[in-house]
Amino acid sequence: MKRLRLGMGLRWQLVLLFLLVSLIPLLIVALFAHWAGKRALKDEVRRNLVSEAAERVDYANYMIRNVIDDRLPPTRLRSIGRRIASTNDDNGLSTLKSANEALLNSNGIAQLVRRVGEHREIIITNKHQQVIYTTNEKLLFEKIDEPWWRTAYNNGLGYRWIGDVEYDTETQQYSLPVVTPILGSPPESKVVGVLRFVALLPKFSDVVSSKREGQEVCLFNQHGRIICASPDSGHQFSEIIEMTSAAGDAINARSDKYYGADMNGETDARGVERIYGWARTTEWYNQEELDQQTPTDQRRMNFQFNDQNFANWRVLVSVPTSLAFREVTKSTKIILWFTLISCLVVVAITLVVSQRIVTPIRQVTGAARAIGRGEFDQEIPVTSSDEVGILAEEFNSMRWNLKSAVGKLTEEEKKMTAIVNSIAEGLILVDPNNRILYINPAAERLLDLSQDSINKDITELIRNDELIQIEQTPSKNEDANFVSEITLIHHDEKLVLRTIASPFLDENGQTLGTVYLFDDITREKEIDQMKSDFISLVSHELRTPLTSIIGFVSFILDGKAGEINDKQRNSLVRVHRQSKRLAALINDLLDISRIESGRIQMEQAPISILDIVAQRIDEIRPQADEKSIQLDLTVPESVPQIFGDEARMGQVFTNLIGNAIKFTPNNGEVSVKVEADGNLLHVEVIDTGPGIPPEERQKIFDKFYQLSDISTRQQGGSGLGLSISKSIVEAHGGKLWIDDGNQGKGSNFQFVLPLVREDDNTKREA
Ligand code: ADP
Repeated sequence: MKRLRLGMGLRWQLVLLFLLVSLIPLLIVALFAHWAGKRALKDEVRRNLVSEAAERVDYANYMIRNVIDDRLPPTRLRSIGRRIASTNDDNGLSTLKSANEALLNSNGIAQLVRRVGEHREIIITNKHQQVIYTTNEKLLFEKIDEPWWRTAYNNGLGYRWIGDVEYDTETQQYSLPVVTPILGSPPESKVVGVLRFVALLPKFSDVVSSKREGQEVCLFNQHGRIICASPDSGHQFSEIIEMTSAAGDAINARSDKYYGADMNGETDARGVERIYGWARTTEWYNQEELDQQTPTDQRRMNFQFNDQNFANWRVLVSVPTSLAFREVTKSTKIILWFTLISCLVVVAITLVVSQRIVTPIRQVTGAARAIGRGEFDQEIPVTSSDEVGILAEEFNSMRWNLKSAVGKLTEEEKKMTAIVNSIAEGLILVDPNNRILYINPAAERLLDLSQDSINKDITELIRNDELIQIEQTPSKNEDANFVSEITLIHHDEKLVLRTIASPFLDENGQTLGTVYLFDDITREKEIDQMKSDFISLVSHELRTPLTSIIGFVSFILDGKAGEINDKQRNSLVRVHRQSKRLAALINDLLDISRIESGRIQMEQAPISILDIVAQRIDEIRPQADEKSIQLDLTVPESVPQIFGDEARMGQVFTNLIGNAIKFTPNNGEVSVKVEADGNLLHVEVIDTGPGIPPEERQKIFDKFYQLSDISTRQQGGSGLGLSISKSIVEAHGGKLWIDDGNQGKGSNFQFVLPLVREDDNTKREA
């Protein structure tokens, strides 16, 4: 899963990047093309809409003008005027009838009918409102009293009047009533009658016929009243047009504004968004036409037509926005499709390209993972010389280096393990929390552990107080070798192990744990014990006869066995002295064996060191005098008492001072110093003898040890004195050691003992 994510991640990141880089410009281009195309097309569409509206309004205008102008020039009515003028003075029925006949007989009416063309009605009256001629039989010779008549007659001034366009829903015909005064003969040219005809108009549906899909056209007058509308618009004759802003503009257009458009897209009553163009009737007559007329006619024409309602028609043309801009939408769609296809192509190309980049990276990743698992044999094929190829090459060489380094390390480790496993001592490695990190086979055997013990707490596995004590000794971390002995019961047998605990540090000196080395010294201990037992036995056996030898020699020397001569005395004195030496040696031997077996008995009483040292010096002084050695004692006025065995402490002084005198040549110096130092009593025995080399200072405390130097050996002795003294001092809770003598010459034996204060007398243990 993780592997998949890595590969896919890199690949798809590349794909995404490529897509973004190529797609964003394409999308911007598409949007720009859409915007610019729409903008360009907008002007075009606006022009089309306006010019179409203008064309149509001109056409409607032309049809009306045809009816009004061409069909009825006022001059043509003069012959009719002459005929009806006769009825104006005498308006009796017979006059009317004869006028009617005269009219019918003349070709004036025929001409008129021809001029009027298709019509619904013709009425001709005299100036008394009497109908002289009509196509409507019922009205003949009746009197007409209609507003149109009065308007046209206009008190004899004559006024041409044209009514509103009418529409007959039954016949579906448009008609226009035209009323014109009939003038009499010149020169007066007075109004002699009135002519009204209702001309049938050509179909306006041609004006509003829809030429394009979705197109709607309305023809309406200056009040917004519909004359004709394309069937889709849903408008009927005489309805008020839907008040779109374009329609409002058309209705309210200023006198000098004849066309306009609204391209904002307005939603119509049926919820379709449309754009509009409009135009209105231009001037009825242009100036040139007017100039050809007489001033009176000019006035009439302006008055009659330019202000009439039919002279101010408007045409509104609209198309749905979506259809108008269909081309732009189409091209935008094409661009978008193109974008989509190029996306797919980009994705495909990127996948192929990224494959080339990702595959080697995956190989490197796979090989790195193999190395992580410790497999170094996976070689990456180098397929190119570019960065990826270099990476693969570098990786291969790194792999090779690693392999040989790891090989060497493993070799070393094997060697080390073999060494550690083969040593006779048990070895355990623990971390700072006492968790076992490593156990060698010897340790397993000695401590009855197994490899399962790894990671467990050593103090829990080996329940041994001495070990816990080692573990808790803070100095074991600083002290390179903390040596101690621990005793264990192993398979029902007592086992004594010399244990060395050493800190195990990293290169910065940081403690990583502890190394425990366990050495089985059970056998050594047993032999030691046997030796001690033997010495003890022999000493005991020797002491009894020796005591009686010394006793009897003293007896003889005292003369109690009779007189002895000088020769005999001399021999006996030697026997006595040597026996005493032997007794001392045997005492030392017995002491040491008691000490080792723990059978030595120390008294526990308050004693005065000053008294003891003074007494012992007095005893020993003859020996010093014999060698002319200066023996000094430096003591403070008083020191607190110590708690212990007077005789044994005396033995320590005798030993140390005796050694000093023994090993110091004639005329030398031996000084003894006692001082109280805090809670401790500090004693020093300094001599001017040959001293003890530093490398032997530790060993001289071992029993029977004597310096290798022949001159010291010549002094005699058993090599037990220091060992006994050390044990006695330690049994008193003190410490005995040797330091450099005066300026590196001679020896300086020192020991400290804890002083007893009044309050801890009771606490002192045996
Ligand atoms: P010994 O009975 O041989 O004196 P000790 O245990 O008292 O036994 O001393 C052991 C050895 O230490 C001596 O044999 C001697 O070599 C050395 N030694 C002890 N004290 C001194 C000293 N003051 N100067 C030099 N060497 C000494």
